[in-house]
Amino acid sequence: MFSEPLIRLKEKNLMREIKNRNSPQGSRISIDRKNYINFSSNDYLGLANHPYVLESAQKAIKEFGFGSGASRLLCGGSILHAELEKKTAKFKGTESALIFNSGYSANTGVIPAIADKGSVIFSDELNHASIIDGCRLSKARVVVYKHKNTYQLERLIRKTKARQKIVVTDSVFSMDGDIAPLKDIYELCSSLNSKLLTPNSILLYIDDAHATGVLGNGKGSLAHFGIKPEPWIIQMGTFSKALGSFGAFAAGSKDAIAWIMNNARSFIFSTAPPSCVIAASIAALELIIKDTSLIKKLWLNRGKTVKELTSLGYDIMGSETPIISIKTGDVKRTLKISRHLLNKGIFAPAIRPPTVKEPRIRITVTAAHTAENIERLIKALGSVKP
Ligand SMILES: *Cc1c(COP(=O)(O)O)cnc(C)c1O
Repeated sequence: MFSEPLIRLKEKNLMREIKNRNSPQGSRISIDRKNYINFSSNDYLGLANHPYVLESAQKAIKEFGFGSGASRLLCGGSILHAELEKKTAKFKGTESALIFNSGYSANTGVIPAIADKGSVIFSDELNHASIIDGCRLSKARVVVYKHKNTYQLERLIRKTKARQKIVVTDSVFSMDGDIAPLKDIYELCSSLNSKLLTPNSILLYIDDAHATGVLGNGKGSLAHFGIKPEPWIIQMGTFSKALGSFGAFAAGSKDAIAWIMNNARSFIFSTAPPSCVIAASIAALELIIKDTSLIKKLWLNRGKTVKELTSLGYDIMGSETPIISIKTGDVKRTLKISRHLLNKGIFAPAIRPPTVKEPRIRITVTAAHTAENIERLIKALGSVKP
């Protein structure tokens, strides 16, 4: 039943493959006993291997055991879960926050919880798959707008009649590494909310997965743009990327979070994340609140890499963040360049359709990379034509 379509996938060079490390994940990794410099991780600050993060997780295992046994509502959570929520809310400048098991489950849980049958969701065409799936699971009508096109968004919002409208966008887009025009989107929603008779009838939902720990001194995209976390804004973010841990959160007003807690099915019907995972997230959060030097190092490394790549003639496809995709032509050529990089000891994945429209090599630079690591990447890319 599956062999025919699998053969077709292979013929189109679109067969995906899992690679298994025999080392920790960091700026260097080992696969099949071969060592590589790793440019594929979202562990932007290298916190996944930070001693304080590891110690905190170990301490929590001793205190709380491993599995959490049930969903939060059935007492699966510990006091650490509550502590992380309190710290997250404070960090984000919101009244309240709620932990989810992953960013995927946050988006597929929160969006259907806040959007009902009478809602219309306006979604950027390049939003993450988990947002798309969250929209599909909701009973709302979904209107897709052109990537970062606030003019079109405004036109669509103005001509749509609905009891409730929700604008949904990634803040940092995960494949191109560009940033949503949040200031414009905020002003648009703000002005419409102040004119409408029903207060707060436009909600703004922001996915800060790649912005948490990266933008706005780690606080995320709203801090980056100097936007106040209004009661009509709901944010999600993950502990799994720059925070080097696992899981995710939604943050917003007390009422919004209480509503989400009572309605998000991925929260209600899923076992709580283990306390040791939560302890690791708390530790990572404490680290970036106390000291922003890793974030500074991340941006220095990002700047250096972009400068070198563009002087080699590479098109960085609009990147504004440590996610740097380079244009590599068709699928065949992209795979060839990815193999060339592997031979040179560089691990940087080829990203192909249907994940993206245009094939590319996606490089993520982190604070854990050394100057020599980056030089090796540039040298390897210098020996192929852009
Ligand atoms: C990674 C990512 C997610 C999913 O987060 P996980 O914790 O890995 O499930 C959601 N949204 C965006 C934009 C992401 O990049």
